[in-house]
Amino acid sequence: MTVFDTMEHYDYGELHMHRDAATSLQAIVAVHDSRLGPALGGCRFIPYQNESAAIVDALRLARGMTYKAAISDIPHGGGKAVIMRPPGRFDRAALFRAFGRFVHHLGGHYITAEDSGTSVEDMEAIRSVTTHVTGVRPEHGGSGDPSPFTALGVRRGIQALARFALGRSDLEGLHVAVQGVGHVGYHLCGELHARGAELTVADIDPLKAERAERDFGARVVPLEQIYEVACDVFSPCALGSALNDETIPRLRCKIVAGAANNQLAEPKHGNALFHRGIVYAPDFALNAGGLINVASEVSGYDEADVRARVDRIHDRIYEIVDRASRAMSPTHRVAHMMAQEKLAAAV
Ligand code: NAD
Repeated sequence: MTVFDTMEHYDYGELHMHRDAATSLQAIVAVHDSRLGPALGGCRFIPYQNESAAIVDALRLARGMTYKAAISDIPHGGGKAVIMRPPGRFDRAALFRAFGRFVHHLGGHYITAEDSGTSVEDMEAIRSVTTHVTGVRPEHGGSGDPSPFTALGVRRGIQALARFALGRSDLEGLHVAVQGVGHVGYHLCGELHARGAELTVADIDPLKAERAERDFGARVVPLEQIYEVACDVFSPCALGSALNDETIPRLRCKIVAGAANNQLAEPKHGNALFHRGIVYAPDFALNAGGLINVASEVSGYDEADVRARVDRIHDRIYEIVDRASRAMSPTHRVAHMMAQEKLAAAV
């Protein structure tokens, strides 16, 4: 597909690309919708097989941000940046400054933040050249790493699902299988461990898995086995498309609730979960804690307010699964409809 064909496929009007030869920067900014406000979304920095894969990732992620902001009452549109991680050696700070200049040229239409592969240090490098960045250090008016807030929201959502689907008011002994124990997955394990949950984890990076084992007594399984763990909750916290034709039949859980963006490889996989009787927490509604946190930087950071807003993810997830159950409809469709209602009301 050509770039314009791909944009049409994902229902887009706007895609920005930038190359900086001096730093090997190859960056893409996708802006999906700005009806609710300037687009806000993280910057992903991972290796991609080719530029088509990077473009599709940016388009799918930015679209998810539109729905995430809408359903969470955040006054921002959906945007996302992808930087193709260069092979070999590179000057990381210079590369992120070059990316910051690119963001600056967009004039505040897109505001960046952390995502997979980027850190507060990278946001600081961006901040040296533009104000259109969040997730910077607290001494610079920032809220730091958003992942503890994302994990908090996921834990609150899991509590709502345990209440709805399992009739439980606590997490004591609840068995959660976490795929990917990086920033969010690690903090999620901490949240769950503190409430007595039992954990099984897998991570492509053995050191991350060992850290969860050491700090939270998690059982570590090989990568592919995580799908087949007999558990209450399967929690995808790595990259996207974990729920697909090949993995869904292998799941032995009652609930799917994780932080990863774009967990459903395609919308039909939400239907497949529904037909298997597995309650799925739509990713964009469940993992909004980090966005709530960084969005508050734009209006003046207030941690107590952020915590209260992240806490509301519990009620929102409960409402989605309750409405879906009454309508006998898959949860991803109901969440999508709720987000579309908010977008339509904004016009
Ligand atoms: P991260 O890169 O810190 O963590 C991802 C972890 O997954 C890493 O430890 C990595 O080694 C592991 N991993 C990668 N492939 C794997 C595989 N096949 N099997 C098992 N483990 C694998 O990223 P993060 O910030 O924790 O984000 C995780 C996911 O949550 C991403 O999809 C991200 O877009 C989404 N998300 C993050 C935030 C946030 O606040 N950071 C907010 C919303 C959504």
